[in-house]
Amino acid sequence: MNVVAPTDDVAVVKFYCPACKCGHRVWLGANGWEYNGNAAAPTFWPSIKVESADELGPTICHSFVINGQIEYLADCAHAMRGQRRVQLEPWPEGAL
Ligand SMILES: [Zn+2]
Repeated sequence: MNVVAPTDDVAVVKFYCPACKCGHRVWLGANGWEYNGNAAAPTFWPSIKVESADELGPTICHSFVINGQIEYLADCAHAMRGQRRVQLEPWPEGAL
């Protein structure tokens, strides 16, 4: 479980995104994402799109997570846009 960490709500998992340098939450269950249950090599379905705004401006991160690898889609606003087969990293100490 060093890749996908449960939060206080067991129906939410999160993975560390090396592009955004933070965790992205994924809601599971009937109205949420499908999850293969494999914390070492997770697959979530469908894609995960995160839109946020901070002091650096608006950010878009859109990816598939398949068998423990991130596929960044072309509409990402960050430098890893379009990169495929990015291995999920262990959860870094102190990451949010
Ligand atoms: Zn991200």
